[in-house]
Amino acid sequence: MSTTSRANSKFLALQREPRLCEIPVNPQGKLLSVSEYFGENVFNYKLSKKLSQEEKNQLEMVMQSQKTLEKNLAKAYANAVLEWALDRGVTHFCHWFQPLTGSTAEKHDAFLSFNKGLPIEKLSASQLMQGEPDASSFPNGGSRSTFEARGYTSWDLTSPIFIKESENGSTLCIPTAFVSYHGDALDIKTPLLRSTTVLSETATEFSHIIGHTEVKRVDVTCGCEQEYFLIDKAFYFEREDLVMTGRSMFGSLTARNQQLEDHYFGAIPQRILAFMQEVEIELYRLGVPAKTRHNEVAPGQFEIAPIFSEANVAADQNQLVMTTIREVALKHDFVALLHEKPFAQINGSGKHVNWSLSDDQGRNFLEPGSNPHENNKFLAFVGVVCEALYRHGEMLRMSIASHGNDHRLGANEAPPSIISAFLGDTLTNIFESITGNNSYTPEGKTTLDLGANQLAGLLKDNTDRNRTSPFAFTGNKFEFRAVGSSASIGWPMSILNAAVNEVLAETNILLKKEIEAGKSVDEALLFIAKHWYKNSSKVVFGGDGYSQEWIEEANRRGLPNLKTMADALTVLKDEVKTKFLTDSKIYRSSELKTRYNVLLERYINHREIEFQVLEEMITQHIIPATITYKRELSKVYRNLKEAGIKSETEVILLKELSGLTDSVLEKSKKLNEFKEASASLSEEDYSFKIANELMPLSEEIALLCNKIEDKTPEKYWDIPTYYDMLFIR
Ligand code: ADP
Ligand code: MG
Repeated sequence: MSTTSRANSKFLALQREPRLCEIPVNPQGKLLSVSEYFGENVFNYKLSKKLSQEEKNQLEMVMQSQKTLEKNLAKAYANAVLEWALDRGVTHFCHWFQPLTGSTAEKHDAFLSFNKGLPIEKLSASQLMQGEPDASSFPNGGSRSTFEARGYTSWDLTSPIFIKESENGSTLCIPTAFVSYHGDALDIKTPLLRSTTVLSETATEFSHIIGHTEVKRVDVTCGCEQEYFLIDKAFYFEREDLVMTGRSMFGSLTARNQQLEDHYFGAIPQRILAFMQEVEIELYRLGVPAKTRHNEVAPGQFEIAPIFSEANVAADQNQLVMTTIREVALKHDFVALLHEKPFAQINGSGKHVNWSLSDDQGRNFLEPGSNPHENNKFLAFVGVVCEALYRHGEMLRMSIASHGNDHRLGANEAPPSIISAFLGDTLTNIFESITGNNSYTPEGKTTLDLGANQLAGLLKDNTDRNRTSPFAFTGNKFEFRAVGSSASIGWPMSILNAAVNEVLAETNILLKKEIEAGKSVDEALLFIAKHWYKNSSKVVFGGDGYSQEWIEEANRRGLPNLKTMADALTVLKDEVKTKFLTDSKIYRSSELKTRYNVLLERYINHREIEFQVLEEMITQHIIPATITYKRELSKVYRNLKEAGIKSETEVILLKELSGLTDSVLEKSKKLNEFKEASASLSEEDYSFKIANELMPLSEEIALLCNKIEDKTPEKYWDIPTYYDMLFIR
């Protein structure tokens, strides 16, 4: 890399035009409306002509877990899928799964097979239902010894099969779970499915107790807003730190960064809009209902959100959203950064996981309704969620821990690492009032009446928004905002589901007791609301979550504050704190151990890569840039001196620069010494050392690098700057 290549990158980036993509049209060339092509790359057995009505009915029952899938039915399904795929020119299939790497994995197989020596296309029932990838190449956290390095993928019927298109062919992707020979979940999906199943059962029982006896199942619903940065591809490849770690290890802030906050909801630049439109077309074809798109707060930052769906489908679809963003970005000569904090001192990216429960009659548990019964149910359920958060805040904090999120929690415009719930003034006042702590009366009223349309009306006017809360009630759902932008949502969601499940199961027992003792259902529900709120109100906080006062206040309240990933991971080793996960059979203790090991290793590896990249950039770019500049300065100084002209400027600059580079080198040396001295530490102790000593030191180095950047003229600086990356598009 040289300065000319940086100039060249700028030139390239400035020349780019919005990319035109193929917009779906009918054979006459007329543009299709989205509803006409939505889901065209997703197999919908209900539309298959190859399956009989009887087979479809049976499949429906299998989907609703009322029946197991028999071989013949699987065979019929496989044939139908194969025919559908061949019609679309698909040549290969793969089991698509989410190993503990946090992304997705796929191993492709051709449909090509031979029958009596003649080539045919084939997808058998067993190929559809089970695969056997070599599990030893996926993170297993030491859970398997090599002699049984076998893992199985098994078809998840509840998430639709889809076609992934690429330039030279298409692949049929079959969503699957991934488990070890002994049935340990080696993936994100399996425990998520267990958690939604368990919670559905508990919530169905709850529904029956309160008189909704027709309810057969309750779905966890989820919609996640995905934030990301886009930078021009030319700059990306000029920065090793972005390529290797996904974030800039240093970078000086431009004078005009986000202080003006004029980017948020501003007009979307043409080149970006063209990108977003192509992403949406791809997602629609994959059956992902992309709904909103807008600029985010930071320059170069954007967001996409789909319409919510069932949790397992939402988790798979979020993976598709991330993949599609990445792939389409490249076509537009952008690179999408999904890291939680690609640019220090600039807003980070999150993934707001919107969450609720909905029964099979379409009733949302977090929707305040139009009658007193619905309202009491709503309040009781909000109480349940608060209690779940209060009890398992540490586990929830752990579930969002990542090396990337460590930079984001507590930073500008992002939730702190203390788990609290925001309910909004109105709802908090209502709870405070029903638990007798205050006598709240809505404006213009003399009494608080939760009956008829009152509650819904009250909450409708309540446009309360708190951007600083990690877990906020937003009208008819909770929004888990502390989740990182690159995370697989299945992991935090399984923990949240488990936590709510535990409290809801206890609620069922309490409810039955109250009703047996003579209370009406509504009275019993109100009792539950009060009971849990009283117990857990410490977790409810409506103030500024970023303030120092809140950190102190939370400490007084006894709320945990696990600052780094290293701190957060210890929770996974605590048998008392993880009991609710193992008791409910959502996780086996061996699986928790696996996850602990995988996450710990990942934390250490990522940090080590970061330290190494920082050092390389210092020696490869920063120091050489200063040397070139200093050579120039010295020459000028000598020439002036020879001519008898007195000038201090060059001397001052030379001294300043030398001072800064000396400090950088000294601190880098210390970082290396720390690393070497840690060789004998256990992984856990090393992780603490990284979090508490090495990371802060690397940040000190970064600040010095920023100062050097400020002092070095553009023409000597060959690393793309914040300005290049954030403002040129
Ligand atoms: P907000 O401005 O409140 O964040 P959005 O319309 O952007 O509202 O919604 C955020 C996400 O929440 C969307 O994906 C939306 O579909 C989802 N959502 C809405 N209702 C529910 C629900 N009941 N359960 C889960 N997610 C929901
Ligand atoms: Mg939102």
